[in-house]
Amino acid sequence: MKTDYEALIIGCGPAGMGAALELKNAGVDFAIIEKDAPGGKVNIAPRVDNYPGQHEIPGPDLAMVLFQRILDNKIEMISDEVTSLTKDGDLFTLIGKYATYHAKTVLIATGTKERKLGFENEDRLLGHGLSYCALCDGHFFKDKVVAVVGGGNVALKESIHLAGLVKKLYLIHRRNEFRGDRKLVDKIKEMDKIEIVTPYIPLEILDNGRVTGLKIQNREDGSEKVLDIDGIFPLIGQDPNSEFIKIDGVKNEWGTIPFNKGMVTSVEGLYVAGDVTPRDIRQIYLAEHDGKVAAKSMIEFLGK
Ligand SMILES: Cc1cc2nc3c(=O)[nH]c(=O)nc-3n(C[C@H](O)[C@H](O)[C@H](O)COP(=O)(O)OP(=O)(O)OC[C@H]3O[C@@H](n4cnc5c(N)ncnc54)[C@H](O)[C@@H]3O)c2cc1C
Repeated sequence: MKTDYEALIIGCGPAGMGAALELKNAGVDFAIIEKDAPGGKVNIAPRVDNYPGQHEIPGPDLAMVLFQRILDNKIEMISDEVTSLTKDGDLFTLIGKYATYHAKTVLIATGTKERKLGFENEDRLLGHGLSYCALCDGHFFKDKVVAVVGGGNVALKESIHLAGLVKKLYLIHRRNEFRGDRKLVDKIKEMDKIEIVTPYIPLEILDNGRVTGLKIQNREDGSEKVLDIDGIFPLIGQDPNSEFIKIDGVKNEWGTIPFNKGMVTSVEGLYVAGDVTPRDIRQIYLAEHDGKVAAKSMIEFLGK
């Protein structure tokens, strides 16, 4: 099995795929390492209505459109999870679950994961009434009562998707104003099945092995109440997938990876693209664009 490359891309989301097409065109010897399904977060986007050239398309379908270009270009994919990234001299070492890889230049395109609420039973309830992905798990809650926690675009979009399936949905947010797009908020306000519950914070998830309720607290008057629910979707933001990076000075205090022009990190030969960067707006076309810019830098770095 080949393990040494000129370049390696970690992550096959829009950022990694955008970069891969450029590296391929330049004749770079490289592969993409992906731990899960190619397409990244696009796979769990219920509907994408802002990708250039597509009208409105379910996320999984768009993920396939994007990945098809990787297949058409015969780009090498490695199915593995990178657990450590270090640099020794001029060479990067990537330790995966199944093999160790080396490359002269590396692109980190690992995106983010959903942030947890922080309750002790949260991990145990995953798959037992608790989910971080409405598109993946929404059908388990057909005609049931669920709560979505969050106030950004992801929480709003997932609520709209879920409302088509469930009997009732409580949308719980800590502020009276939502962070997400006005258009989405307006749509939610028109949906009979959605009850907006603000300004409330979750205090405890009640369970009997499965989710049975959610204790919440009003942030203005401190009063508490319990909502009887069958499911909960915490959608309160994302944390970067960057734990595996063992090189000093690459990450900031939040674990995201700052960059300079050309998607250059603080380490020579190491580049970054997409949601794992410190960015306010996380979008498919931006990630793809980052990937392409990073690839140009990598090609230059390799002197190709
Ligand atoms: C519910 C939802 C709806 C959305 N709707 C839209 C929308 O309508 N329009 C829009 O533009 N954007 C939307 N987004 C945002 C968009 O999906 C992201 O901005 C985009 O996917 C980011 O691309 P990325 O390549 O940076 O990261 P990701 O898509 O997260 O891809 C990262 C990849 O890296 C892999 N990976 C992570 N760690 C490792 C590791 N250690 N080893 C190997 N592989 C690893 C992951 O498995 C993943 O495949 C939505 C997101 C969500 C969650």
